[in-house]
Amino acid sequence: MQLCFLGTASGLPEQDRFGQTVIVSKEDEEGRLGHYILDAGDGASSMFARNGFDHREIHAIVISHMHGDHHGGFLQLVKSCMHYDRTEELVVIAPEEGIPALKMYLEASYLYDPLLGFPIRWVSMKDLVRQPITLPGGIQFESFPNSHLDSARHRLAAHSSLEHNRTFESYSMSLLDGETRLVYSGNLNGPAGADELAAFIEPCDVFVCELAHVNPTELGRFLANKRIGITAIAHFHPKWTGMPDEAIVKLVLDGAASHGEIGTVMSMRDGQCLTTSPGAQFVRTRQLVPHTFK
Ligand SMILES: [Zn+2]
Repeated sequence: MQLCFLGTASGLPEQDRFGQTVIVSKEDEEGRLGHYILDAGDGASSMFARNGFDHREIHAIVISHMHGDHHGGFLQLVKSCMHYDRTEELVVIAPEEGIPALKMYLEASYLYDPLLGFPIRWVSMKDLVRQPITLPGGIQFESFPNSHLDSARHRLAAHSSLEHNRTFESYSMSLLDGETRLVYSGNLNGPAGADELAAFIEPCDVFVCELAHVNPTELGRFLANKRIGITAIAHFHPKWTGMPDEAIVKLVLDGAASHGEIGTVMSMRDGQCLTTSPGAQFVRTRQLVPHTFK
């Protein structure tokens, strides 16, 4: 399994960080490479192509919740798949409340199913809570609801005249490849938001955690004594801009210090990847090296 961070910004893209887009890649039993896109920030399709990935090899696009920085690049990913003459089914996993809107957005853009050249299989995150499915390419996928959108619930409630039928779905998720388990936080609820994942996270080889709402010291406390190999931090709030990567990692380690042992912590940048080596350890690669999957 390989994990590439194409974009590591939060809701506000920055000069050196594009919108959050994380690519999980693996080879199937026949040696064919396939990709799973976890959140499609704006520019996702461009970043995907620019880094040498092939749109025809996307197995699934996963949208953790319906804030725009998590699906802003979705439409162009689908459009690019059409232009690249994709024929294989594309799985799209999204919050149930978002699926009709995403479908309408595609159709509003003249991307009707029969014109795409490939079928889209829409899967509701709600149906995958504690009920893993096997995705094309052999990854086992499972979702876990979190309360990230409670703030949106409160904000909407303050405007009683606004009519809506929102369900405020937000999800964390896990991807299992054989023995290797990745947990992706999606967005969480507040500085101690990672605490919500206590019942879901162990064991995992890599935990991708957001730093848009979560506080690094609180994260360190949470990580202490957990069976987590590597914690890879992404989705950086602009307030961390300018702080060296090592200083952010140190905040996490300090948070864990009085609580117990902690695994490896990494502060990710756009274009960095983690790759499984034969011993199922993850090794950091500085550059994206697409299609040299070993
Ligand atoms: Zn959000």
